[in-house]
Amino acid sequence: MTPRVRFAPSPTGFLHLGNARAALVNWLFARHHGGSFLLRLDDTDRERSREKFVAAIEADLRWLGLGWDERARQSERLAHYAAAAEALRAGGRLYPCYETETELALKRRAQQAQGLPPRYDRAALALSAEDRYALEAAGHKPHWRFRLRDGEVHWDDLVQGGKTFQAQHLSDPVLVRHDGLPLYTLSSVVDDLAFGITHVIRGEDHVSNTAVQIQITQALGGAVPTYAHLPLLIDAEGKGLSKRLGSLSLGELKAQGLEPMALASYLAKLGTADAIQLRGRLDDLAAELDLVRFNRAQPRLDEQELWQLNARHVHGLPFEAVAARVSGLDAALWEAVRGNLVRVEEAAEWLLVRDGPLAPVIEDAAFCAEAAALLPAEPYDAGTWRQWTATVQAATGRKGRALFHPLRLALTARESGPEMAALLPLIGRVKAERRLKGEKA
Ligand code: GLU
Repeated sequence: MTPRVRFAPSPTGFLHLGNARAALVNWLFARHHGGSFLLRLDDTDRERSREKFVAAIEADLRWLGLGWDERARQSERLAHYAAAAEALRAGGRLYPCYETETELALKRRAQQAQGLPPRYDRAALALSAEDRYALEAAGHKPHWRFRLRDGEVHWDDLVQGGKTFQAQHLSDPVLVRHDGLPLYTLSSVVDDLAFGITHVIRGEDHVSNTAVQIQITQALGGAVPTYAHLPLLIDAEGKGLSKRLGSLSLGELKAQGLEPMALASYLAKLGTADAIQLRGRLDDLAAELDLVRFNRAQPRLDEQELWQLNARHVHGLPFEAVAARVSGLDAALWEAVRGNLVRVEEAAEWLLVRDGPLAPVIEDAAFCAEAAALLPAEPYDAGTWRQWTATVQAATGRKGRALFHPLRLALTARESGPEMAALLPLIGRVKAERRLKGEKA
């Protein structure tokens, strides 16, 4: 059996790290097993779905390298959900309810007061045909609930292990709104069946939907897929990421200079039994993917670790891979600075340092002037810095930080940065001399 998986975002916001992880794991799973990956846009909620989010989600997935074999939009598939609702009605599994929101809230409050779980009391099942006729004649439009069957619902979750729910403890879910709009619980099951989804890999927040979805799948005569629910990410303080997710949207992280392979390497192993290591290609991560290795505990997002991976990735990038990303960049500069960068775009700063004009920072004018006078003649190479600083050391008696730091400050106006041995030949004698003398150059 060829696995078919789906990533099903609702285009009501931007992708954040949590969604990206679900998308990635689905994609890697498909790749690992030679299966296919469906992008399904859950956009039936017309009030909240936006085209700009559809476009952003697709752009983010492409940026991460997660192309899709097939794409579907639920807003274009309403007839399928209507047909499924009709089939459930015909089978006596979907029944009309006429309570208003206020009535339902009152019922819930009464249950709460008695210490009972908020479960729909199925009052609507007691309505006679005349009652319903009278309600509809009075302008009440029904919403439709799925009638759960009492009994145990069990599935073997690939991440969570065996899961069992007693259906009699669950509330009959609304599947169709009073205005005819199908709700996620129905449309998701219909599409999982229609697209032959074999594995539903998604966030743990959907565990509570699964028992219901299994019963709906069975009521529609379909085969129940295998489920895998990934624990949701938490921040360093152990809190959910929901509040911070805005700043952790993929678009935002990309704008900050995050590299897709650093992110993929991080997210593919976060919360698993494997060490997080930088990988060069998604296919490497796909080869290593094993859902059994995901922990049940919620993984902590460590942004520092993520940026460390980014730095490691940047250090290994050849010039050709970044040439188009920083205007004016050349191979010599890239080679000199890449080992010191966390983000590719930081190379632009070193381009300015090299080319100037730069206002030097002079800590000790007399020392810098002496060092300037000792600058050797060109041509400069990787050994020039060592020769020159050895000469300066011999002349001034300075060594260590007292020797190197004022020179770095004068030549780059920065406390730290790439190896001076690599930078000095790029800065060249003329600019080095002027900067050491305190001139803008
Ligand atoms: N649109 C749903 C969500 O974003 C999909 C959940 C699922 O994967 O079934 O939460």
